Amino acid sequence: MLTMNYTYRIYPQFKDNPIDNSFIKLPKIGKVRINQHRPIPEGFNVKGVRIVSRARGTIWYAVVTIQCDVSVPDPPPVGRGIGIDIGLKSFLVTSDNFQVRPARFFRDLQSRLKELQRKVSRKKKRSKNWEKAQLLVARLHHRISNTRKNFHFQTSHTLCDQAEMIFVEDIDFRVGAKGFLGKQMLDGGFGQFRQLLSWVCWKRGKYFATVDHKYTSQICPECGTHTGNKELTERVHVCGECGYTTSRDHASGRVILNRGLDSVVPVDGGEWKLSGNGVLSGVLCLDKCRSRNANSRELEASTLLR
Ligand SMILES: [Zn+2]
Repeated sequence: MLTMNYTYRIYPQFKDNPIDNSFIKLPKIGKVRINQHRPIPEGFNVKGVRIVSRARGTIWYAVVTIQCDVSVPDPPPVGRGIGIDIGLKSFLVTSDNFQVRPARFFRDLQSRLKELQRKVSRKKKRSKNWEKAQLLVARLHHRISNTRKNFHFQTSHTLCDQAEMIFVEDIDFRVGAKGFLGKQMLDGGFGQFRQLLSWVCWKRGKYFATVDHKYTSQICPECGTHTGNKELTERVHVCGECGYTTSRDHASGRVILNRGLDSVVPVDGGEWKLSGNGVLSGVLCLDKCRSRNANSRELEASTLLR
């Protein structure tokens, strides 16, 4: 996460809750006015605060890490599953053939970014106008990354609405990002999306797992036949063995689901019922307060300093 223009300061250990009525109390600095994005849930202690600056020091965040001493079990593999194929053509396609298109507004923001960068290059380096133009670039970068993260969160929740188990390829997106698709892949932020998806799944009590990514586009999900390597331009899967025909990404999604289902052992012969009202109490509690537990997982409640 470290980038240039990224400076931060850590305040570990707080005896009392430092946040109070849109103020945060920091050692040595004192009270600072904040725009609190969400309340600190009951039963949680503030473990530490990081002060982070963005957009060339014009936007500041207090990132609050909170902790709660409850141990919450990981969601069990139970219920309906979906496999998710992540890609460039569609942002993703599930084994149910549900598609999420790449968000259009990114392209608009990207072209605006290029325009601003051109302006910077025309200014005299380190002049006042150059500084001003640089600031606009930094702010837009910030906005793009926030917009992307938001899109990833919303998509994750949409997927969690659809199934109890979610399977994704274990592909290393950084490798692809070095190739000819690099720019686009980085723009998609696939690695970040998978990470956010796994945490949204955890929070909502859905089982999340990654599966082997090899040959997911070369196998028929219907009969398991190897259909051979597909070129990237080949968008359709046609099985010579069983005749199953569908879009390439949908077929991959189904192969991913098949692999995921093979990887889990159903508890109690497939019928794994949750006790009580059907929700693990810990998960319910966490879902309600939208937080993580002490299971060494951090909640970052970003708080914008005014
Ligand atoms: Zn087939």
